[in-house]
Amino acid sequence: MDNKLGNPKNTIEIIQKYQFAFQKKFGQNFLIDTRVLEKIISAAGITKEDCVLEIGPGIGTMTQYLAESAGQVVAVEIDTNLLPILDETLKGYDNVTVINNDILKVDINQLVEKYNHGRPIKVVANLPYYITTPIIMGLFESSVPIDNITVMVQKEVADRMQVGPGSKDYGALSLAVQYYAEPYIVANVPPNCFIPRPNVGSAVIRLTRYQEPPVKAADPALMFKLIRASFNQRRKTLLNGLNNSPELAFTKEQIAGALEALGLPAAVRGEALTLAQFAELSDYFTEKGKQG
Ligand code: SAM
Repeated sequence: MDNKLGNPKNTIEIIQKYQFAFQKKFGQNFLIDTRVLEKIISAAGITKEDCVLEIGPGIGTMTQYLAESAGQVVAVEIDTNLLPILDETLKGYDNVTVINNDILKVDINQLVEKYNHGRPIKVVANLPYYITTPIIMGLFESSVPIDNITVMVQKEVADRMQVGPGSKDYGALSLAVQYYAEPYIVANVPPNCFIPRPNVGSAVIRLTRYQEPPVKAADPALMFKLIRASFNQRRKTLLNGLNNSPELAFTKEQIAGALEALGLPAAVRGEALTLAQFAELSDYFTEKGKQG
């Protein structure tokens, strides 16, 4: 391909040719480092058997790499101004479909049905950072069949997804991600790998979807309410956090009873609990509820 992107010269040329104006509101920071692009493709383990969903192809930099490694690529881009550019940069590939839409409005299960007969896909993206959490949680919660998600995110967010109890970064996002997938930080990526440069550090993280969650809560919805309540008021004890939550109706006595039954100190904070302990706590309340 003579118009291969990923190096700054070709990227700048195409941006100037179309007089493309970057839109901050869409989180547009395009990759201009071929080593980072190769690392993403390799970490995602893409083969010609794969159908890949790319979120936000931009000018098509990563899309070109994906098209060369995967069987099928479906790329969803919100910015209409990028469509004529994508027409040009992807014209040599017959296995790419570009869809002009907001990824948060797309029925991804339907896409998987249409382009991969419902079989698990891989998701690869240099994500627009302003919607990282809704995109990732949306993919997990809507039960899209997925092998893995390999994405560029803000470094701090990658850290939050990966850590366990005892770190200041540990929170509801860590627990939610780790319930669905095994996280692995592939690489840290400095601002100079993008045009324009973002004012935060970035990291590539791979989330490999579990076939079965690593903990089995009888009522996962209740477990996630407990998790949210614990971290909504981080500085408070777990007892007060759960008691103050508008989503839960347990009395202080019931919560104290649960902590005691689980062998946890009365003044424990939510940030000290593992995912397994949140599942146990949730199961304790589910059992008590059944007993009336
Ligand atoms: N993949 C390109 C690259 O690596 O150079 C561009 C990545 S840029 C960080 C994020 C891309 O997501 C932009 O092209 C932006 O227009 C697009 N985007 C932003 N919000 C979106 C949304 N809600 N749905 C689909 N695409 C979106």
